[in-house]
Amino acid sequence: MKNTYVLHFDTTNYDKPIVYRLIRDYDLVFNILKAVILPKQESYLVMEIDGDVRQLELGLHYLQNQGVQVDPVTKNVHRNEERCTHCGACTAICPTGALAIERPSMFVRFDPDKCSACGLCVTACPPRAMEVSF
Ligand code: SF4
Ligand code: SF4
Repeated sequence: MKNTYVLHFDTTNYDKPIVYRLIRDYDLVFNILKAVILPKQESYLVMEIDGDVRQLELGLHYLQNQGVQVDPVTKNVHRNEERCTHCGACTAICPTGALAIERPSMFVRFDPDKCSACGLCVTACPPRAMEVSF
């Protein structure tokens, strides 16, 4: 099972060696898609985490016990469906294919599970339909 999460760190745990234990103790594989680590400030990582469902559950529980707030990326990225005109501008810039044109309808599909929360679509979208917030 593979999902993308946003890990929020606070000033007490941002510099602790926490995430490597997902590999060592929980047999999970992760891929860091985005990292904003600011000394003595709140920081976050966007990570794909892959592994056995039960191990994933245990690994996320471990992170939370370390004071890391774990959110599915879908909580931080949203498309305002009323604003989206399906113009397709975002599909050229989205690096993960989370925004893609469906054929033959030519509607632009947004798949949050593929999103890395990079934020590139926010400025690329003429009517500002894409919202990324942390
Ligand atoms: S650029 Fe904005 S309006 Fe155009 S398809 Fe993408 S989300 Fe919709
Ligand atoms: S934030 Fe926007 S551009 Fe970046 S991966 Fe997600 S949908 Fe694509």
